[in-house]
Formats: sequence, C-alpha cells, structure tokens
Amino acid sequence: MTNPRFDFDLFVIGGGSGGVRAARMAAAAGVRVGLAECSALGGTCVNVGCIPKKLYSFAAGYATAFKEAGGYGWKLPQVREALDWDHLKAGRAKEITRLNGIYQDLLVRSGVVLLPGHACFEGAHVVVVDGRRYTAERVLVATGGTPRVPGIAGHQHAVISDAMFDLDSLPDRLVVVGGGYIACEFASIFSGLGSHVTLVHRRQHLLADFDEDAAHFLQRELAASGVDIRTDTEVTALERRCEGGRLLATLSDGSVLDAATVLYAIGRIPRTEGLGLESAGVKLDAAGAIVVDAHYCSSAPSIYAVGDVSSRKQLTPVATAEAMVVVDRLYGDGARRVNYEFIPTAVFTHPQLASCGYGEREARARFGAGNIVVYSSDFKALRHSMSGRNERTFVKLLVNRVDDRVVGLHMVGDEAGEIVQGFAVAMNAGATKAHFDATIGVHPSVAEEFVTLRTPKAP
Ligand SMILES: Cc1cc2nc3c(=O)[nH]c(=O)nc-3n(C[C@H](O)[C@H](O)[C@H](O)COP(=O)(O)OP(=O)(O)OC[C@H]3O[C@@H](n4cnc5c(N)ncnc54)[C@H](O)[C@@H]3O)c2cc1C
Repeated sequence: MTNPRFDFDLFVIGGGSGGVRAARMAAAAGVRVGLAECSALGGTCVNVGCIPKKLYSFAAGYATAFKEAGGYGWKLPQVREALDWDHLKAGRAKEITRLNGIYQDLLVRSGVVLLPGHACFEGAHVVVVDGRRYTAERVLVATGGTPRVPGIAGHQHAVISDAMFDLDSLPDRLVVVGGGYIACEFASIFSGLGSHVTLVHRRQHLLADFDEDAAHFLQRELAASGVDIRTDTEVTALERRCEGGRLLATLSDGSVLDAATVLYAIGRIPRTEGLGLESAGVKLDAAGAIVVDAHYCSSAPSIYAVGDVSSRKQLTPVATAEAMVVVDRLYGDGARRVNYEFIPTAVFTHPQLASCGYGEREARARFGAGNIVVYSSDFKALRHSMSGRNERTFVKLLVNRVDDRVVGLHMVGDEAGEIVQGFAVAMNAGATKAHFDATIGVHPSVAEEFVTLRTPKAP
C-alpha cells in the first residue's frame, strides 16, 4: 500500500475534528501518516468551540437551577455575586489541556508523525511545514473555519467567539452581534452567567437555518429569560471611550449601547488563506470553501478536503464522519457514506433547541407542499409547575403523507439535544408516524409528547 517515492502516504493538514479522526484511522490501517497542526490539537471543537461552550452552558444552567430550586423549597443565597469567573476559566482550561493531551497520545500511539507548525502547499504532492518540505502521495485538508469579522468603524474593539472563554472578567454588559446558533448560544450562556446581554441581529428572526416555528419559539423564550433582543437592527459603529475603557455601540436605529464587551458572531468562513492551494490546483467556490466531489476529492486528484473548510454542515460529527469516509475509500472497502439528510443538531441555549431532518419550509419544498403533515404542541413541562418559571416546551413533527415517514423533528426545551439524538436513530432507520404512535412513552417526561401527537395542524 505504501509508496516509497513519498515521505508519507497521507499528509493531513489540521489537527481538529476531521484531521485527527482521519489521521488516526489511516494510521491504524497501516498507512504512513503525517499531521501538521499550527495551534492546539483538537481544533475548534475542543479548544474554542463545542467543548468549552458546553462547559460554560452547564455553568449558566446552575443559575436557572438555583432560581428554580426556591420553588421546590430550597433556600439559597443570591446567585449573581456567587459566580467565580476565574474559577470557571481555570476549570475549563484544565479540562481542555487534558483533552489536548489525550488527542496527542491517541495520535502518537497510532503511529501518526506529528508536525507542529503552519503547513502550506508547494505543489500537489509537497507540503511545507514551517520551512521543512514533505512529500505525500495524498493530502487531506482539514483546516476548518474562522470567524468572519465585520467591516464597520471600530471593529477592532470587538471580539470573536474564540476570545469569549478567556475574558479578563465576566462582562457586566455584553452586546452580541449575529443571529446564528453561535450568537444565540453566547447570548444565552452569558445571560445565565449574570451579564446583561443585548443581542443585535440585522434580520427579523434568529436562527434562519432552523425550522421557523422552533426558531421563533426559542426567540420568545430567550427574550423571556432576559436577553434583550434587537432585530432588524445593525451595529453601525463601535467606539472605545478611553484606553482599556468601556465600549459604545451605535445601532442603526440611532440608539447607543454601553458595553464591557462586544462579540461578533456573524458566521464563519473556510480557513484557506496562506495554504498555497493555487499552487496545488485546488479550486474554491464563491464562499471560499474547497470544492469537493461526492468522495471529498478536490479539483486536484491527490488532494481531499473534509469538515468546515469544505462542508456546508459545519459540525464536528459531520467533519469526523466525512474524514472516515475518505480514509475508508482510500484505504478500506469504500462502503462508508455520510447521510446528510437526517443530521441531528442542537443549539445549546437555555432552553435548548434541537432538530433532526427538514424544517417545515424545506420539507414542503423537498416533498411537495401538500404532502407535509404537521404535528406540534407547546406546553408547560411538569418541572415548571413548581419551579416558579413559565418556560414552555415546544415539539414538532413533520410527516411525509406519501410514505408516512417522519422527515422533520424539532424541539425547544430542557435537554432537547439529548432527546433528539435518540429520535435521530429512529429517523435514520426510516421511522414512520405509525412507529411513533405505536411507541409507548416514558411517563412522566417531556419526550413522551413526541409519541402522543395525534391531531395534525390544519393545512
Ligand atoms: C463557538 C463554537 C461552538 C461550536 N459548537 C458546536 C457544537 O456544539 N456542536 C458541533 O457539532 N459543532 C460545533 N461547532 C463547530 C465545530 O467546532 C466545527 O464544525 C468542527 O470543529 C470542524 O472540524 P474541522 O476538522 O473541519 O476543523 P477544526 O476543528 O477547526 O480544525 C482545524 C485545525 O486546523 C488547524 N489549521 C488551520 N490551518 C492550518 C495550517 N495551514 N497548518 C496547520 N494547521 C492548520 C487549526 O489550527 C485547527 O486546529 C462550534 C464552533 C464554534 C466556533
């Protein structure tokens, strides 16, 4: 299998979710693998994405739990003064360092040659890492993405999501600009931690990539939880009052917000700058992503790309799944596939929004407007009968009338991510509404609502 003309059979650029998985799997198959990483192993997810975000989400969740506990008879002190931000940061940093070490051990033990440094192409089979040249029969680009920065006056005073985990102090007033899942998550998490949060979004509704009913429902719950949401509004300028001082954000409606921190979370772009892709003949699309075919092969036959640098579904499990398909195709039996149709995903706000499959508009476009039957319900979960909070839960099912398959499942509520993961298995196995109806519920639970939806919404 190995080709002695090259230093490596497979050279992986980027030690994040996709790159690490591909390198490990290929090395385990006896392939000579080199991996270049210019920062910390584990990439976005481990260092500045899913993991630290979820840890901070847990931290924020306690604030809600403390508030609710009163309704159940617990007498607790005020929460706001109780959060030790430095303790939270230190705990997160320790856990991330532990994960970095695990990634390193796994790679080294599987025989991957680790090459710390920035990699770039010098032709289709040559990669240069900090001045050293390596040849490779094939190269996998898994360099991920990077936050987009705005072009407004004073943008240098804003931070991107990478910086949010290590702010010197918890901002008393935070402005979050954006309306996607990362903006919503940071707004909700920092609101839970005790910051006064204003979320500024240029469109009327948040979370355009999600089912509209679910997204609108979450927007109302976020507002009810205390996030000040300003829609149809943009930040037009940022100004710092004095060196190291507070920020003033001027909005398109003329108002001015005072803030300790302004976060821009307006989307991410593929990370291809400085990679020398043109020297290797690799084409990019209009959004700057590497163009790949159904087998993740780029316009250069020896170069592959997976994850955020090429995918439209920018999620860790998608990057790892794509990586495994590439390695399986190159060095295995080639049977692996990624099913992009029923990918479950969650927005880790309080409450969470989670989805699997199509949103209503997408489902009507894909299966025919008249073929989609909608079931939905919103209710106060039993937990809130005594919690003192009026938070509501939302569930929605979309069924294709033609074959009775459940093609969309959406939820806003506690632990929606955990709940939707289970239903995603059923949906990938082709579950029909009849299967849902025949399933006994776990009682009392919020998830049982999915198997007791009987009356469709009027068309
Ligand atoms: C705030 C935030 C929260 C998120 N939350 C979730 C979530 O809850 N669930 C989820 O599924 N996804 C989440 N994501 C998305 C997820 O992190 C990405 O989809 C995933 O990390 C993509 O993996 P990747 O392998 O494509 O790239 P990455 O994990 O970004 O890895 C790319 C690596 O390549 C390295 N690199 C780049 N260029 C070079 C070069 N020239 N030479 C050497 N190394 C290079 C980088 O340093 C990086 O380590 C989140 C992202 C963010 C920003």
